[in-house]
Amino acid sequence: MKVKLAKTAGFCMGVRKAMERVLLAANNSKEKIYTYGSLIHNPQVLELLRKRGIETIEKLDGISSGTVVIRAHGIPPKDRAAIRSSGLNIIDATCPRVGRVQAIVKSYTHKGYTPIIVGDKDHPEVIGLLGFSEGKGWVIDNPNAVSTLPYSKKVVIVAQTTQNEDLFNRVVEKAHRRFPECKVFNTICPSTLDRQAEVAELARSVEGMIIVGGKNSGNTQRLVRIAKASGVKTFHVETEAELDRKTLSQLKSVGVTAGASTPNWVIKRVLRELEGLESTYEDKWRNFAYRSLQFLLRSNLYVALGAGALSFVSCLLQSIKPRPSYFLIAFLYTYAMHGLNHITDKDAEQLNDPARAGFYEKYQNYLIFSGIVAVGAALFLAIMFLGILPFTFLVGITALGLLYNIPVVPWGRFKISQFKKLKDIPGSKTLSIAIGWGAVTSLIPAMDVGKVFSPSTLYAFLFVATLVYIRSGLFDILDIQGDQMVGEETIPIIIGEKKTLYLLKVLCGFLAILLLLVPKAITPFLNYVLLVPVAYMAMCLIVYQRRWIQLGGTFEAVVETSFLLTGLSTLVWYILFYKLKFTIYFI
Ligand code: SF4
Repeated sequence: MKVKLAKTAGFCMGVRKAMERVLLAANNSKEKIYTYGSLIHNPQVLELLRKRGIETIEKLDGISSGTVVIRAHGIPPKDRAAIRSSGLNIIDATCPRVGRVQAIVKSYTHKGYTPIIVGDKDHPEVIGLLGFSEGKGWVIDNPNAVSTLPYSKKVVIVAQTTQNEDLFNRVVEKAHRRFPECKVFNTICPSTLDRQAEVAELARSVEGMIIVGGKNSGNTQRLVRIAKASGVKTFHVETEAELDRKTLSQLKSVGVTAGASTPNWVIKRVLRELEGLESTYEDKWRNFAYRSLQFLLRSNLYVALGAGALSFVSCLLQSIKPRPSYFLIAFLYTYAMHGLNHITDKDAEQLNDPARAGFYEKYQNYLIFSGIVAVGAALFLAIMFLGILPFTFLVGITALGLLYNIPVVPWGRFKISQFKKLKDIPGSKTLSIAIGWGAVTSLIPAMDVGKVFSPSTLYAFLFVATLVYIRSGLFDILDIQGDQMVGEETIPIIIGEKKTLYLLKVLCGFLAILLLLVPKAITPFLNYVLLVPVAYMAMCLIVYQRRWIQLGGTFEAVVETSFLLTGLSTLVWYILFYKLKFTIYFI
């Protein structure tokens, strides 16, 4: 089955910013946090917010301390005044685009106009807008209602930001006949228009459409209506559990989109479920290959193989003869660290990659056992074949890796630091993975041959650590909403998605320059060969940005393959230059 994900699926700018603000407040404030009305129309998100101690209130009910977050939809001015006079702090997360509509209603009301709002009268955004009309506004949701409105010479018409444009245009057409001098502001949000246009287009190219979002979300319901109007089989689901697997497996292609209040992780769960569906049209071998690859990815064997490949590359960058023990130590260390840390970091995993979380739950005992065996085997290899210095160093980085997620140092109690675990240090996740990989792939072989402080070791360390940082940073971007929900502070959460993507591109450029500037004496021509995986990684960033590949298991495999590609390119170079004594003459 071919699955096409709409580029516009998921949180709009207003909802994303409101979520960020409420989670930031929950992370940084000791006060109780309330949201005034449901932050968004999505039961899964509301449940998670409740677990984070964020309470939804519909009225103040005597609450006199804490912080109230005003949601993206905004509230009427009288409600805001009531919150302020009750002594509560306010965080205003009203979407700026909703704020603009509120300003239009307010200003035209003051000029003596009668505001007409085209929208759903019970929707919180519309209730908020109506509050700015000082009791003089009207709400209508169909063109026929225009004739029921009392006549006024001065009329201003606005739309609920998530309204259907076609309906709005039909209302405006009728309104022009009844109120010839009416002023019209098409305040439908551009992201709503894009989302609706895309669902209509997508529905024309697939056999079925899946719309993911709350059953009570107005904008999601409108997407469902648009998809249905195109005549395609349409499924409205809140979670992957509601997917009609039997019917879907009969289809050759499905389109997936989601309402403005649907978080990424819910969309990802749906996509993973679809990827795993055995379509009756799919050939069995492809299914087998897909499942095998998923097993390698989820068990961390694939990423561990990548670490082994990078250790081979790192040795050659340092002119060290590659040994099987270097490869195996890097493989075993990475396998153990990734597996054991994923198990102790279940909360984020449940949101970011539920399929992987399910895999860990099912095979938890096996993974813990094999992780401990892997650590033991790596240490055994180090002491038997490499000597005391690499062994001691490996013990150190293994201990740091294992303690990453565990609050063993009571810093908080002694007021030395607010961080109880290494993981709590903002941005530490991506950096520690990069340093760990750099250390195990480049420093251990260097210690074994006694050349730790050489420029080539620094060069190899920088190459591996930067490449791994780019890979982990990209995964952090994919996991941003789930990490935010559980209070993790990864680089994209601290500096934002756009800046992180920019940073990762800059790092690709840095790697390319590093490779081009390195003296030939260190790596005769290998530096040029390694430009291939760097270009591949840069391409992964562009693929993500342009959504050229479905985000999910396939994309993860594409990114993780970068390390194997690095190893493979180096192996080709190694065979040509060392084994076949191949020589290139430059003019
Ligand atoms: S749909 Fe548009 S106006 Fe409404 S919250 Fe989202 S970005 Fe803001």
